[in-house]
Amino acid sequence: MAERDQTLGDLAAALVECRKCERLVSWREKVATEKRAAYREETYWGRPVPGFGDPEARLVLVGLAPAAHGANRTGRMFTGDRSGDWLYRALHRAGFANQASSAARDDGLKLRDCWVTASVRCAPPRNSPLATETANCSDWLVNELSAFKGLRVLVALGGLSHTNLLRLAPRLGWSAPRPRPAFGHAVVTALGDGPVLVSSYHPSQQNTFTSRLTEDMFDRVFVLARRLLEE
Ligand code: SF4
Repeated sequence: MAERDQTLGDLAAALVECRKCERLVSWREKVATEKRAAYREETYWGRPVPGFGDPEARLVLVGLAPAAHGANRTGRMFTGDRSGDWLYRALHRAGFANQASSAARDDGLKLRDCWVTASVRCAPPRNSPLATETANCSDWLVNELSAFKGLRVLVALGGLSHTNLLRLAPRLGWSAPRPRPAFGHAVVTALGDGPVLVSSYHPSQQNTFTSRLTEDMFDRVFVLARRLLEE
C-alpha cells in the first residue's frame, strides 16, 4: 500500500511539471490567468491534472482531459464542472464514492476501489486534444495504469479513451481483439489476461443535455463494472 502510494505520488509530482505539449501548456495557462467571471477570486490550478482515488483500486476510469474551468481550475479530475457532477453522483449511487458531489480538492470526497484519470492531462481548447498530444501523454497513462497491480475493470469515458486504451493495451502487456471493437455505450471488451474494458458515453454536457446519455444509462456502466469486479 505504502509503496503504491509512493509510486503514484512520485508520478503525480513529475506529471505536474510536464510541459511537453506547447499548445496545451499555453492554453491551460491562458485559461488560468484569464479565468471565468464566476471564478475570478479563485486561483486556478493551470497545470497537468494527476489521477485521483483509491491507490488499491481494481476499477480505473479513464476520461478525456481536464475541463478548462473544471479540473484545470480545481486541480482534481472531474471536479468543479457538470461532467463531474454526473460522474460522482453515479459513483456514489454505485458505492464507489463516499459522497455525490465534487466541488474542490478539499471537499472530503473519497473513492473506494476506484481511481479516476484521463487520457490527456492538460485542458485542451474545445475539449479536443490533437492526436499528437494524446500520444505525448500516453507514457503518463501507461505508467499510472501499471501501478494498479490488481486492476480488473477499466472504464473508458468517451470514444477517444476507448481507442486510446485499445492502442495502449500491448504496452501494458494486455491483448486487444482484432479488428478493434467499435466504440459504443456499455460495450465490454476483454483484454486477454489484462482487465476488462467497459466503454461508456462521456458525461459531457453535449451528451447529457441531449439525453444521448441518461442517468439510467450511466448507472448501467457501474452496475456492470461492479458485477465484473465480483466475478
Ligand atoms: Fe505533458 Fe500530457 Fe500535458 Fe502534454 S498533455 S503537456 S504530455 S501532461
